[in-house]
Amino acid sequence: MAGRSAIVAANWKMYKTRVQAAEFIAAFRKQVLTSGRVMIVICPPFTALETVRKALEGSNVKIGAQDCYSEKDGAFTGEVSAGQLKEVGCTYVIVGHSERRRLFEDTDELINRKLQACLRERLVPIFCVGESLPDREAKRTEQVIWAQLTHGLVDITPEQLKSFVIAYEPVWAIGTGRNATPEQAQEVHAFIRSFLRNVEAGIDEIVPILYGGSVKPDNIEPLMLGSDVDGALVGGASLEPSDFVAIVQGVAETRRP
Ligand code: PEP
Repeated sequence: MAGRSAIVAANWKMYKTRVQAAEFIAAFRKQVLTSGRVMIVICPPFTALETVRKALEGSNVKIGAQDCYSEKDGAFTGEVSAGQLKEVGCTYVIVGHSERRRLFEDTDELINRKLQACLRERLVPIFCVGESLPDREAKRTEQVIWAQLTHGLVDITPEQLKSFVIAYEPVWAIGTGRNATPEQAQEVHAFIRSFLRNVEAGIDEIVPILYGGSVKPDNIEPLMLGSDVDGALVGGASLEPSDFVAIVQGVAETRRP
């Protein structure tokens, strides 16, 4: 926790038109108290990125995309490149979300190329890893997370890894209303932290690790108490300004000096 930024990122998934996105930002900006203790990142659908960028002008809230393609440009119908995201003002990109892995067959190898594409454009990847329920029940959580990290980070240097954010998102907790317990979250975050330390001592002190999976205003504070938990990646509860504000304030509370 010490020295690492606290981050709360909103993943809006395939929700909100541009009008709804602008309404959200207007309401959010009225309610949020910018404490400076928490970095806020909003990841709308591609179609609302420009709207959100304009609506956030003059604030220090960052914008991110929910995915990118691995190539710079070319005949890749339907895809969006990291460079195009940078041009519309993104500074973060979610890569390897479990919905991408499960529904769109994003393999570890493709995720690795997407991470490299982000790095070429100096975008900060929010690299998601997490185990399924059968994996957890078979006590394979660490094995799965280790494999996702190892394969996802092929050819990425320790120096490049320093710019990452990692999100631990147990698949069984995403959109299910069933969050990990604070102890379960801390245990896996500590494992990810030790993985980073093994890549190179000191990286573990720098890279923020976020928890994601059914984060709500009423569970955010206990989830943030683990010493290796640096913030949250929030799906469903980031769609309502008052809920998202309460989550940001909850994280800020746990970062009070
Ligand atoms: C997510 O989509 O990254 C997520 C964590 O979703 P939810 O908060 O709805 O579980």
